Amino acid sequence: MLPTLFLSHGSPMTALSDTPARDFLRGLGGLLPRPEAILVASAHWETQAPMLNAPPRNDTIHDFYGFPKELYTLHYTPPSAPALAEQVAQGLRAAGFAAGIDAGRGLDHGTWVPLMLAYPRAEIPVVQLSVQSHLGPAHHLALGAALAPLRAQGVLVVGSGSFTHDLRRFRRGMPEIDAPEAQDVTAFSDWMDEKLRAGDVAALLDYRRLAPFGAEEHPTEEHLLPLYVAMGAAGPSAAVKRLHSSTEYSFLRMDAYEFG
Ligand code: ZN
Repeated sequence: MLPTLFLSHGSPMTALSDTPARDFLRGLGGLLPRPEAILVASAHWETQAPMLNAPPRNDTIHDFYGFPKELYTLHYTPPSAPALAEQVAQGLRAAGFAAGIDAGRGLDHGTWVPLMLAYPRAEIPVVQLSVQSHLGPAHHLALGAALAPLRAQGVLVVGSGSFTHDLRRFRRGMPEIDAPEAQDVTAFSDWMDEKLRAGDVAALLDYRRLAPFGAEEHPTEEHLLPLYVAMGAAGPSAAVKRLHSSTEYSFLRMDAYEFG
């Protein structure tokens, strides 16, 4: 059975920059059995209730500004999967979520940047799931749990966000991409890693209060919530493995986890 994944997608420049995180993502597809389809919960699609994308064709949303022109020429257009999206929406409704379908939306960079690296042939159908950043970790754990049956169907469930994401620091100046990690980022990430390995779901749900610098590393929650989707989809007894860890710009942790 396929595991579930949490991936840190980082800056859109992950698609082009020569970084350890990019190297990891480029090797990721080869680490896993080939999925029948991929469902990605993306931090960059925030809605009131869970939405699944089901356009006739997946197009590439360049949802970022001020980056080098080359980034806007990249396109990643794997097949869409309207039938799977409808099946997932029905499953979520049965679990009590007011899930809907968006037939107009393509793939934002939370989805296409990591998948373009991991599955460059763009042959595997992709469905995107939105996050509800106003509803917090417990909602996303339950959302993930409702997706658990997909694993047996060969669907790779991915949460795409960022292990730390305090972008306010860019306003104080642009560190080098390989600058040494800030101490608070280490403290937060070590705490999260320990609780993930221990399967301490209660502590993880309460990370804003319990984790060192929890609220500072995630001034808003949308980039951490996909982690809970991946955890929930794998179930409470899943083995947890850190697949990758690196830091960019001193504060952006690019960690990836496997649950299964
Ligand atoms: Zn992002």
